[in-house]
Amino acid sequence: MAEQSAGLPRFVVQRHRATGDHFDLRLEVDGALVSWAVPKGPTLDPTKRRTAFRVGDHPMEYFHFEGVIPEGSYGAGDVVVWDTGTWELRKADEPRAALEAGELHAELYGEKLRGRIALVRRGGLGDREQWLLVHKRDEHAVEGWEPLDHPRSVLTGRTNEEVLADRDRLWRSDLPAAEAEVHLKPSESEVSDSLDALDELGAQGTWHVFGRDLKVTNLDKVLFPGRDDEPPVTKRELLRYAAAIAPTALPFLQGRALNMRRHPDGAETKGFWHKQRPDHAPDWVGAWDNPDADEGETSTYPVMDEPAAIVWAAQFGALEWHPWTSRTDQPHRPTYALVDLDPGEQTSWEDVLVLARLHRTAFEHVGVRAVPKVTGRRGIQIWVPVRRGPSFDDTRAWVEQLSRTVGAVVPELVSWKWEVRSRGGKARLDYTQNAINRTLVAPYSPRAAAGAPVSAPITWEELDDPALRPDGFTIRNVLDRIAEHGDLFRGALQQDQVLPRLG
Ligand code: MN
Repeated sequence: MAEQSAGLPRFVVQRHRATGDHFDLRLEVDGALVSWAVPKGPTLDPTKRRTAFRVGDHPMEYFHFEGVIPEGSYGAGDVVVWDTGTWELRKADEPRAALEAGELHAELYGEKLRGRIALVRRGGLGDREQWLLVHKRDEHAVEGWEPLDHPRSVLTGRTNEEVLADRDRLWRSDLPAAEAEVHLKPSESEVSDSLDALDELGAQGTWHVFGRDLKVTNLDKVLFPGRDDEPPVTKRELLRYAAAIAPTALPFLQGRALNMRRHPDGAETKGFWHKQRPDHAPDWVGAWDNPDADEGETSTYPVMDEPAAIVWAAQFGALEWHPWTSRTDQPHRPTYALVDLDPGEQTSWEDVLVLARLHRTAFEHVGVRAVPKVTGRRGIQIWVPVRRGPSFDDTRAWVEQLSRTVGAVVPELVSWKWEVRSRGGKARLDYTQNAINRTLVAPYSPRAAAGAPVSAPITWEELDDPALRPDGFTIRNVLDRIAEHGDLFRGALQQDQVLPRLG
């Protein structure tokens, strides 16, 4: 058997599910990856001839990339390292000359692919040459061998489905290769190292966080007054929280436009909506051009595709993070239906709990998974993950029907009038939030109020806990809660439900 030897150039085959499912065969040649997209994939079966489209050379940085290429980037989809090893040129002395001549013979020393292959150009000269890929009849040939029968990564043992479902790495093909790979799940020690680095900065400086350099300013400025007898919260403490919470909060923000609630002079000053991605944002802060924007409206939104982007938003004075209910690739198709229990002036916390418990019963009754959170202000919201398909009109109508049924049980608590003055101080069950570019605060987002309260996920059982408060969780205690209970909002990430017809 041919032995893999040191010093040979390397090869990789990535299974890449993008617009179409295919395999990318890449051979290391002179410090670049010469590449072919092979729709049916390479095989050990010598009776099969596989079409292979030559695509542009890829940078060596991409060699062992396994993860997700986000929406909006070239090649958006998921990637596993399906095979890798070394290769050796045969029947020629120089690989570039063989490529030029349109005929390349190679010996592969991979984990799945072994033995002699030939790549022969058939036509389509230009930027999408068509080649044929065959496996020779040798001692490694196996008739009937199909790549999709061997789907797992040779690096991690995962399938493409598993990589997509539990994202840990991104490839941002819009950035230079050296900056393109992003780690979404930094280890605890990486996070604590960067928190230490923040503590060591003076009032400003460059903070290296999640692999990015971020210019941070006014670190000792007070952004939130203290609550009760606690000390006030400085910008440094907010940035520290943003970095610590980013790995947990990111899945709720990723791939979505972000509407920022900015209070650059602190929670006690008047805030304002900021939806535009500022031109001075670092290039690794994602951007999305809203195709529906009318003249004079915000057209380019920031997108939080990586943990450092959340820290950037906090540095930019965004004290609250409000992601869109839809993702940027299908902005008219929500991934959540939202129930917003919005208290009026006369609504007590007990009244909010009554409304939340009635909704709990309603969701149990219709068999729909829904996850509640306190807002960090006075209310409770319930997020219902849905499979994409229904429009905002559909989800709004569904939530309205559900909430009107609930509201009819306690008419003394609820008003269906929209003007604050005509509501008589009663609560509003605000189904109108189910509309494009209408947003609710993200789980784990701080709120612009004394003590830096946080919109925190809760369990349904906690509605019966007399200690529960709508603003009881803060940037100072919510991380301990996550350490103890995990992320109680994870159920919202499984966006697979079809809303049933309500009787
Ligand atoms: Mn590809």
